[in-house]
Amino acid sequence: MESASEFDLIRAFFDWPAAADNTIRIPVGDDCSVITSPAGMSLAQSIDTQVADVHFPKFAPAHLIASRALRCAVSDLAAMGAIAHSFHLALTLPEASNDWLASFSQGLRKTASELDIQLIGGDTTRGKELVISIAVQGWLPSQQGLTRSGAGVDEDIWVTGLVGESAMILPSIIAQPQLDGPETQPYYHPEVHLKFAQALLPFASSAMDISDGLMQDAAHIAKASQVALCIQAGRIPTPVAYGAKSSDNALWEQCVTGGDDYQLLFTAPKSQRETIQTLAREHNLPNCQVIGETKSGSTVSILEPNGQQRLFKQTGYTHF
Ligand code: ADP
Ligand code: MG
Repeated sequence: MESASEFDLIRAFFDWPAAADNTIRIPVGDDCSVITSPAGMSLAQSIDTQVADVHFPKFAPAHLIASRALRCAVSDLAAMGAIAHSFHLALTLPEASNDWLASFSQGLRKTASELDIQLIGGDTTRGKELVISIAVQGWLPSQQGLTRSGAGVDEDIWVTGLVGESAMILPSIIAQPQLDGPETQPYYHPEVHLKFAQALLPFASSAMDISDGLMQDAAHIAKASQVALCIQAGRIPTPVAYGAKSSDNALWEQCVTGGDDYQLLFTAPKSQRETIQTLAREHNLPNCQVIGETKSGSTVSILEPNGQQRLFKQTGYTHF
């Protein structure tokens, strides 16, 4: 869009009052945003795209779409242990509806304030589908960062909280896109573990956020670190019980393979267990727990209490 209304739209909905932050030299409105990097910090960057009816229902309330889009994007900063700083928003809209934009902008602004991250620029275009791309920036103390490749052998495998809450509510959201209540929180307002991950920097050896199911994402750490991840099925925190009736087991399997709850999966030497338990308590993460251990190898296995490997029909979500 290159009409006057494009600029009116940006001014009305995305040019928020500048925060008192002297690291943002040039905010929304110029050809580039310009930020000043603090001494001793490296810039962490990531971009995340969400497409209507692929990543969220097109007719969901716009403020909820905004919340989920921003939280999913910022989750990548948490997965590195970075401090969230700012983001750019590229929005492709089938039409410029003031009501929709007002709701989207309100949801985005509220979420940005909750996550303490500033909108500093973007791009607004018309297109057939609603597409939201968010590029995030954050700071990592130089020489630090939770990569996928740092796990060693004989370490604990941790998860920050429940996996599968989002997968459990998704069918209801698809059936009723207007649904907006406490039950939809895990899907639209996934917790972003920024502060906890920053606290983990000295203690964890690897980390990632779970966006395509625990099982599938665990394979990324296994491959990058060249370690086997041996996960105890019964220790994975899920909203449905493990090992009860077989009907519950089908739901349990969906939790472990289908979850996009943006929990962090991380590894740490066993010697750090008590320290991490204390940090989890301090950060109010009651379901943060050790779910297994790393061994030599490069695969992921989910083990039954009798030690047998559990086989799954599907391991997680893939786009292609
Ligand atoms: P350019 O033509 O240089 O790419 P634009 O005309 O697209 O710039 O955008 C004008 C200004 O508005 C830029 O500073 C850009 O970063 C900002 N902007 C455009 N769309 C958005 C948006 N959806 N949210 C925040 N800022 C935006
Ligand atoms: Mg432009």
